[in-house]
Order: sequence, then C-alpha cells, then structure tokens
Amino acid sequence: MMKMRFCNVCQSYTLSETHHGENTLSAHPAHFNPNDWYGLQRRKAKYGV
Ligand SMILES: [Zn+2]
Repeated sequence: MMKMRFCNVCQSYTLSETHHGENTLSAHPAHFNPNDWYGLQRRKAKYGV
C-alpha cells in the first residue's frame, strides 16, 4: 500500500520517498501517544484542568 508523503520543501503531497533530492515526510503522523493520553487524564484528575 502506498502511503502519502509530504514534501516539506515545496509543501506538497507526493507518493515518492524523495522529492527533488530531499526526503519526504510521512503525511500520516502517529496518533497521540496513549501513555500521554492517560497522563493527561491523570493530570486532569489531579489538577482539575
Ligand atoms: Zn518537493
């Protein structure tokens, strides 16, 4: 399965691993870290934010 990539140089989407010689970035960044999520809930419980 091809994943969309993002060229940070020309700010455009591409399927290529590289764009004009520069590595492209994943256009699908990881979802938030579940550990952070639970940490956020803990902070909410603790500080009531
Ligand atoms: Zn580009």
